[in-house]
Amino acid sequence: MSDRAASRDVVVAGAGLVGLALAAALARAGLAVTLVDRGPVAAADTGDWDVRVYAISPGNASFLQALGAWQGLSCERIAAIESMRIEGDAGATLSFSAYELGERALAWIVEERALRAALLLQAHAAGVDVVAGGRFAKLAWSVSEGTLALEDGRSYAGRLVVGADGLNSWVRHAAGILAEPRDYGQQGVVANFECEHAHHGCARQWFRDDGGVLAWLPLPGRRISIVWSAPDALARELMALPHDEFRERVAAAGGNALGALKLITPPAAFPLRSLRLPTSVAHRMALVGDAAHGVHPLAGQGVNLGFGDAQALASVLAERGPVADAGAPVLLERFARRRAEPVLAMHTVTDGLARLFGARAPWLRTLRNGGLSAVDRLPMIKRALALPALR
Ligand SMILES: Cc1cc2nc3c(=O)[nH]c(=O)nc-3n(C[C@H](O)[C@H](O)[C@H](O)COP(=O)(O)OP(=O)(O)OC[C@H]3O[C@@H](n4cnc5c(N)ncnc54)[C@H](O)[C@@H]3O)c2cc1C
Repeated sequence: MSDRAASRDVVVAGAGLVGLALAAALARAGLAVTLVDRGPVAAADTGDWDVRVYAISPGNASFLQALGAWQGLSCERIAAIESMRIEGDAGATLSFSAYELGERALAWIVEERALRAALLLQAHAAGVDVVAGGRFAKLAWSVSEGTLALEDGRSYAGRLVVGADGLNSWVRHAAGILAEPRDYGQQGVVANFECEHAHHGCARQWFRDDGGVLAWLPLPGRRISIVWSAPDALARELMALPHDEFRERVAAAGGNALGALKLITPPAAFPLRSLRLPTSVAHRMALVGDAAHGVHPLAGQGVNLGFGDAQALASVLAERGPVADAGAPVLLERFARRRAEPVLAMHTVTDGLARLFGARAPWLRTLRNGGLSAVDRLPMIKRALALPALR
């Protein structure tokens, strides 16, 4: 076998959920695509509840359905968020319901492993050339293509190279975009529980007076998945607790809203970082997903933004008309323009909320709680706030 494969339209570097969705969408539009990752790409299904779950917006559920991946998920493992209740750190509340907004669900809770498997199946079916176990070593550019070389000597050339390789993107660095993620000083502690009382499809979120945010998301049956965005010291303390004490802390932090909790998936912690870039494109290169933006998980929008990138890039390339070259600057500029506004808006909202609720000044505490209650009484404003998260 030659160590240099024939040139493709697009080489997607990174097979996380966003890279997989992009590769499948591009191949379905008739482009020749290679998808490369250092990992095994497919995750083994253990049957346990995955500790990584995502709240997928209705708009992205439709995108995944168009790719054929949504239909591949077992409906017994998906939960609808039918309503949401947010509590401020001085008792103010804000509630949303899917019914009020004319939607079947505000979002759908899906396990990462299952979604990854469903997307991989569709990538294969669409004809994506999937390369697993390949660590990136070198990116070289010519006028007409980019070539991604792997540490094991294989290399892949494409008219366009897409960095879908996460927050610490190697491709972003190799393309000379040197912005670094900024630490929130918090970690996302995630775990799954069985609960005593039914959750009725309600997601609950508490903005805490220590600057952290606790979210309880419904899983099927009497189960929930939590994301506790906790200041570093608290996150370390929570991770070190024996499981019985951990479940008691989580139950108490949520006001025992669902009665007693039983841990069903042990906790894991992820550092939370923000990333904002001046541009997401360069010569024959585009960035998607966390490689292009890092947002606080308090609104559950990171992978949703990434799917938005994938959808936008795939549609720009599919509709390229007489421009045969998938890496042509005019197409990359079109993609960057299409994504600039939604990415900036989501960044501003999530970053703003993380800072507003992270600040300790008493007047800010009054202001933010007053703001939550005021929005709760204004259906038009509530709707305007909720709609971007549904796309
Ligand atoms: C606690 C927590 C909760 C969250 N909850 C939500 C939620 O409810 N909803 C939501 O929308 N988002 C959520 N997010 C955000 C979400 O996890 C990310 O936005 C999403 O996983 C990013 O996907 P990605 O495909 O862009 O990157 P990644 O998942 O990071 O994938 C990158 C891929 O690139 C590969 N790669 C990287 N470097 C190399 C290299 N050098 N060589 C070869 N391969 C490489 C990796 O192996 C990996 O497969 C949450 C995040 C956290 C931390």
